[in-house]
Formats: sequence, structure tokens, C-alpha cells
Amino acid sequence: RVKEHGRNSVRQFIPEMGATAISRMNMEGAMRRGLERGEFALHYQPKIDLLTQRIVGAEALVRWNHPQIGLIHPIEFIPLAEESGLILPLGEWVLTEACRQQVAWLEAGLGALEMSVNVSARQFRQEDLAERVAQVVAATGIAPACLALELTESMVMQDVNSTLLALRTLKQLGLSISLDDFGTGYSSLSYLRRFPIDELKIDKSFINDVHVNEDDAAIAGAIIAMALSLGLRVVAEGVESQAQVDRLLAMGCTQVQGYLFGRPMDAASFVAKFQAGVRVFP
Ligand code: C2E
Ligand code: MG
Ligand code: MG
Ligand code: MG
Repeated sequence: RVKEHGRNSVRQFIPEMGATAISRMNMEGAMRRGLERGEFALHYQPKIDLLTQRIVGAEALVRWNHPQIGLIHPIEFIPLAEESGLILPLGEWVLTEACRQQVAWLEAGLGALEMSVNVSARQFRQEDLAERVAQVVAATGIAPACLALELTESMVMQDVNSTLLALRTLKQLGLSISLDDFGTGYSSLSYLRRFPIDELKIDKSFINDVHVNEDDAAIAGAIIAMALSLGLRVVAEGVESQAQVDRLLAMGCTQVQGYLFGRPMDAASFVAKFQAGVRVFP
């Protein structure tokens, strides 16, 4: 179940650009200029609580609005941004914009939504990450309790001692830590207990067939049971059908994200969605 995206995405990207085919170096330059010119934007996917039938949070997902190519998804540029180091200024922009939006929504009456922000491996390894996050929190005025940073298993398992230190420093700011794409990496379960983690997000690959495949249901069920007994929140990613919702609820998972409840959308659409309310049971 290893994720297929990564290095290949840059190669896939180039043929589609036809006459304007740009090399990898040009793409780096284009990204750098794009960042300066404000071509990046955030889309927000609602996180739903099935029990209260309300939107309780949003995950910020970055998009690149290229003037010639149009909307480019992160799978096409995050790997190169990561390799080139551009992920550091881009990630800082994402964090700032997401926090700013959370505060704007609070002021607009949407309540204390939790804003989840994806953090890349290279960002996580920055010595001064906690200081940078603290600066963004102070500058935007977000309540730290309303901010969650999403990390992946492979990132946190790489060097467990430095991870423990980094997580503790981040947690002192009062924010939440979420483990994204959970189940696809190689977590040592003992570290799950030692790390100050707040939330597990079950990877979509286990959710796809959770309602029809007993092996997937067994894995999802085990993750849910473990999370709940460790006192962690658990969220299912990629929920697309009512049958999946029913199965997840039966296993005790009450928080979900997925196309069934909303695709990632621009901020205005998110507000409209919030105001329209969520319907969990048809
Ligand atoms: P992720 O953090 O696991 O985000 C979930 C991805 O699954 C999103 O893709 C979302 O659109 C998609 N998704 C959500 N619900 C469904 C569903 O029901 N069905 C299907 N088929 N897909 C669903 P997206 O936006 O293309 O992002 C892909 C990945 O790119 C993210 O995976 C994350 O790892 C990375 N990414 C996105 N934004 C950022 C960012 O600001 N910084 C960093 N470092 N990485 C980011
Ligand atoms: Mg995520
Ligand atoms: Mg994920
Ligand atoms: Mg992912």
C-alpha cells in the first residue's frame, strides 16, 4: 500500500504542458515566482463529526493556480518543492494563510473550527519549526487549540529521539498533532504511546472497501480500537459512501472526511457548505 506518488509526478507533469514544456529547473523557478506572485491558494475540506452532524474542522490543501496551465494539484509539485527546499517558504505561506482563514471564520461566526495543516518532512526537520509556528500563531491570532499539524508516520519514525523533542516543543504551544495516512507507514506501536499525538487519520486505502472487504474492515477496526483505547481521536479519510459511514460508525469512528461530505473547496464555498449544514443520514 505504499503511495505511488512522488518522483514520477514531475515526469507526468511535463508532457501535459505541450509546447510550453518546461524542464524541472524551470518548474522550480516557476514555483518560486508563483509564490511571489500569489499563484498558490488553499482549498479546505470539511471534517465532519457524525454524532453532532456538524463540520468541526477543515483541512487546508494547497493548490497552484498557474496562469497558463490552470489548477495544479499538490501531488504534481510538493515532491519537487520538497527536494528543492521551496517547501519551506511555501509551507510557511500555507500555515499563515490557513491560520488567517481560521481566525476570519471565527470572526464570521463559524465557531472554533479546527484547522489542520499538512507539514512536510523537510519542514518537520527544521530546527526552529516550533519558533516559526509560534510566530505565525502570534501574528494571526489563532487560538493554538484550534490548530492541528498533520505529520506522517514515516516522518515521525525516522529519528524517534529528535521527533520526541520536536513534538514536545510543538505541543507546548498548545496545538494538536495528527498522524496522517495512518496505516501506510511503519509505526512502532510503543512510540504511538510515547509520542504526544492527539489524532490518527486512517488512510483512505483502508476506507475504500471498508464496507465490503473484511480484511480492510479488520485493519480499520483495529486502528480505531487502538486509537480510542490510547485516548486519541480517530478520523477516517476518503469517505465516499453511506455504506462506509455506517460501517465506520459501527466500529466507533465518529469523525470523517471525504467527498461524501465535501471535496476540498475554496473558502467561500466552505462557508456556504457550513451554513447549509451537513446531513449524515439520508
Ligand atoms: P492528505 O493530507 O492525505 O490529503 C488528503 C487528500 O485526499 C487530498 O488530496 C484530498 O483532496 C483527497 N481526498 C479527500 N477526500 C477524498 C475522497 O473521498 N476521495 C478521494 N479520492 N480523495 C479524497 P490533495 O488535496 O490532492 O492532496 C494530496 C496530498 O498532498 C495530501 O494528502 C498531502 O499529503 C499533500 N498536501 C496537500 N497540501 C499540502 C500542503 O499544504 N503542504 C504539504 N506539505 N503537503 C500538502
Ligand atoms: Mg493531510
Ligand atoms: Mg491523508
Ligand atoms: Mg496523503
